[in-house]
Amino acid sequence: MEPGSGVGRRSPSSSSSVSLSHAAVAVCMSLPLRRCSHRTMSTLSQTKELFRRADAVCFDVDSTVIKEEGIDELAKFCGVGDAVTEMTRKAMGGSVSFKTALTERLSIIKCSREQVNKLITDHPPQLTPGIRELVDRLHQRNIKVFLISGGFRCIVEHVATQLNIPLDHVYANRLKFYFNGEYAGFDESQPTAESGGKGKVISMLKEQYSFKTVVMIGDGATDLEACPPASAFIGFGGNVTRQQVKERCSWYVTSFGELMKELEKI
Ligand SMILES: [Mg+2]
Repeated sequence: MEPGSGVGRRSPSSSSSVSLSHAAVAVCMSLPLRRCSHRTMSTLSQTKELFRRADAVCFDVDSTVIKEEGIDELAKFCGVGDAVTEMTRKAMGGSVSFKTALTERLSIIKCSREQVNKLITDHPPQLTPGIRELVDRLHQRNIKVFLISGGFRCIVEHVATQLNIPLDHVYANRLKFYFNGEYAGFDESQPTAESGGKGKVISMLKEQYSFKTVVMIGDGATDLEACPPASAFIGFGGNVTRQQVKERCSWYVTSFGELMKELEKI
């Protein structure tokens, strides 16, 4: 039986990895001098200014917009939480690529479409306090909001709906299912399935929408590494603290209220 249904289809907004790479090169060559990253880190005041005048703000989802890690919740729900946690721990300490780590963990979880739907119904993702107000305020100011996640689109779309974020502003991995609902793998062509995928999405957004200033907000190393091409990075430690991220970013916040306060200054 072949993997089927619309669940595994590629988004019309996704491009091939080849064109994304070209886009990334083109954008990197035209980057302004002032940008973040451990190589050319912006100062705190520069990062705050970039946030205040952003064209778009991109949020990581797991442990940032929501309190938990989606894949861990899915594993627990499918009765393989401990095995997947152990695998995550090993993957973080070694040189396993993001795609390999994702493949291995999903091969243990093997969730059916029904299990994913039931997880969303019975244990919906818990929004981090203050995110709803922050997204509303950004929308009021006509700043575009995107969710860029290494997690799963079916779960992230649920989060986007709660926050009034259009579904074509969601970039995440796509689970695939056979027609009978059994697990059939994931769409390996999505940029978010690769190491460095969040940066590729941001390059693509800058090109597609002609954004000049894009700010990435997240808790993890993959979020930090998306800057550049992101114009600035804000570390979020409201759910978990990743010491390396905290030390390497110029602005680290532990609540979305701090970002709301900054927006009031304009
Ligand atoms: Mg995260």
